[in-house]
Amino acid sequence: MTALPKTVDSFVPTNDQKDLPPLSVAVPRVCLVTGGTGGIGSAICKRLAKAGHVVATTYRNEEKARAWEAEMRKEGFTFHTYKCDVSNFEETQRVVKSVVADLGPVHVLINNAGITRDSTLRKMTIDQWRDVISNDLDSVFNVTRPVLDYMLETGFGRIINISSINGQKGQFGQANYAAAKAGMHGFTKALAQEVAKKGVTVNTVSPGYIDTDMIQAVPENIRQAIVAQIPVGRFGKPEDVAHVVSFLVAEESGFITGANISSNGGHFMD
Ligand code: NDP
Repeated sequence: MTALPKTVDSFVPTNDQKDLPPLSVAVPRVCLVTGGTGGIGSAICKRLAKAGHVVATTYRNEEKARAWEAEMRKEGFTFHTYKCDVSNFEETQRVVKSVVADLGPVHVLINNAGITRDSTLRKMTIDQWRDVISNDLDSVFNVTRPVLDYMLETGFGRIINISSINGQKGQFGQANYAAAKAGMHGFTKALAQEVAKKGVTVNTVSPGYIDTDMIQAVPENIRQAIVAQIPVGRFGKPEDVAHVVSFLVAEESGFITGANISSNGGHFMD
């Protein structure tokens, strides 16, 4: 058996491996990640920056965003931050224009911002319903709409919508969230068909339970009950989701479009 090379540098191709195409180095792209200051968004921003891309992100909470920027700087990352409520169509149009004026056309859009307002339907208020639909689903239209023109002009685009396992299987107390997240994938499949010939791919990533602040706040006994249902035997990490996103962003992923990729430890198998 041939020993594996210890490092990439020590890899010497044998004759039959010489015909393999070289691994590509990422072409630097302008990426816009909504809700980058959150748990999963931070991991996505870092992963894209490490691949050499220029990363902009939107936020709502000023104080949280400033603390996040300081934390990121300590870790060696500089991101371009824009205050923008992505549930507001007019505000989003203005902010996308500013991003393009500052950084150039957006090539990669990660629709990641989202909220939950859980309640059984019998107790759900119209505000709980509307808040989730506007923050989690309307926002996808609001940001994708202005960004798409630039992608079509450039002839390259990657749109990745961060949905949820609960959009795939439903969840008690989350009729609003499940509807928004399932709607997101309908959007993905329709738009993927509209732009497939123009170098723009549109995909959904559906994370399972990811160990963010939200999960940390759940009582330990409930956390253990959730983990017991996950075949891999652990919660996901934000980096697990970021990995799938970076895979879809890659130049080589141009043949993947309209897909819904689960990152859920086997918790739900479609
Ligand atoms: P967080 O609550 O940590 O982060 C959410 C981010 O979205 C925050 O930065 C928040 O900014 C931003 N945001 C929300 N609404 C808006 C808005 N209207 N305009 C601008 N920014 C907004 O969540 P996670 O990182 O856990 O989740 C990220 C995505 O992944 C969400 O879409 C979520 O539904 C999905 N997901 C999460 C799972 C999990 O287990 N954590 C599982 C499956 C899916 P601010 O704080 O400034 O408002």
